[in-house]
Amino acid sequence: MDYLIKNGRIADKNGCYEADLIIKNGKITYIGDGLDATGLEVIDAAGCYVLPGFIDTHTHFDLNTGSAVTADNFDTGTRAAILGGTTSILDFATQERDGTLSEALVQWQRKAEIAHCNYGFHMAIARWDKQTEAEMADMTREGVTSYKMYMVYDALRVDDGSLYAALKAAKQYGALIGVHCENWDTLLRITEEVKARGILGPEGHPLSRPNDIEAEAVARYMRLAKLAGAPAYVVHLSTHEGLEEALRARKRGQEVYLETCPQYLFLDDERYLDADGAKFVMSPPLRKPADNKALMAACASGDIDTIGTDHCSFTMAQKLAAGDFSKIPNGGAGVRWRGELMYTYGVLAGRMNMQRFSALMSGNAASLFGMAGRGRIAKDCAADVVIWDGSVSRTISDTDGQHNCDNTPFNGMEVKGGAKHVFLNGELVVYNGELIAENRGRYIRRRAHGKLR
Ligand SMILES: [Zn+2]
Repeated sequence: MDYLIKNGRIADKNGCYEADLIIKNGKITYIGDGLDATGLEVIDAAGCYVLPGFIDTHTHFDLNTGSAVTADNFDTGTRAAILGGTTSILDFATQERDGTLSEALVQWQRKAEIAHCNYGFHMAIARWDKQTEAEMADMTREGVTSYKMYMVYDALRVDDGSLYAALKAAKQYGALIGVHCENWDTLLRITEEVKARGILGPEGHPLSRPNDIEAEAVARYMRLAKLAGAPAYVVHLSTHEGLEEALRARKRGQEVYLETCPQYLFLDDERYLDADGAKFVMSPPLRKPADNKALMAACASGDIDTIGTDHCSFTMAQKLAAGDFSKIPNGGAGVRWRGELMYTYGVLAGRMNMQRFSALMSGNAASLFGMAGRGRIAKDCAADVVIWDGSVSRTISDTDGQHNCDNTPFNGMEVKGGAKHVFLNGELVVYNGELIAENRGRYIRRRAHGKLR
């Protein structure tokens, strides 16, 4: 079926204007006024925004951490995603310490076959050696042009020399490396100090990972990227201090990109004192209102480039089974709510305009991660389109996110706006908030990373 979307207001990273558009054979074929509706299904978008489908740069579906398996797989996770207007996710395929990148990619491709939205993979490198390096060529051929490396977690962390060498290699392939920046050795020491004070509840979690734990790691990553002559991407930036370190690197001429998450913009560490404080245990932890404020200002100014959710869901039973805060499975369920949260507390709160919103939600990620022909409302682009109704409102609850998890950190927040209709690859898959076409997600083969500035 082909479509004419009428009377909406288009907002993409390059501008905001009123126009109709035609979707044919999966693509946006015309944008203009007074378009001929003959043979087309007409969708009236009066009073709504017409946006490029949102891209979530950071999800963990169907992940086994070794001690816990996430509540959401690619069925339930991408269902929640598409109902929130997210037409593409970038999930993390993760290499086993004794495995190869190709094995991880095959495994994640299989997991993702059932997806309801499009998907691509960042490849998490758990071991840097000649074999892994040689596999980067295969990954590029398979359309994987971004990687993740961890400075934390025993099963995943790599040393600084490996990170430096990987940065150099990735640059050859036009690939970006996203890094989870925290100083592992020091945070383990501080965790022991906190526990020695008798603090075992969730309130110990932020105490064990102070802002400097992240800021030191960001600064180190920036210097390693400088030495390697490579671009740098910081995932889930959470602190004012980390932001300062990254901006300092950008100021001295480095190519630096930054991602944050709604939980670091809209929630603070008081939540660890709640009765369900375990819910908020994620790494990095929730921070102070001053950090929320600094990061939000950076989103509005364009210093922060992308918003990912870091959706990594565990049930309350999983969260509460741990003996102390350091053993609570890390992560939260947020993939459903990114659009509503950014629209309500970003756009409606007067902090950013729709153009900036669209860039953060979609356009920047598409450019940065080589998703050619996506992230824009433009002729010949793939028709991943969200008809966004700004007039609806709701209170987010633990259980209405359509994910397979009994909690979300955003429970109780009032939000406005919502994805009324969603087109995926030119097909109407969400109509009036209902998923009407299932399992339509496609693998997105990505090109070399693009520059944003
Ligand atoms: Zn993550």
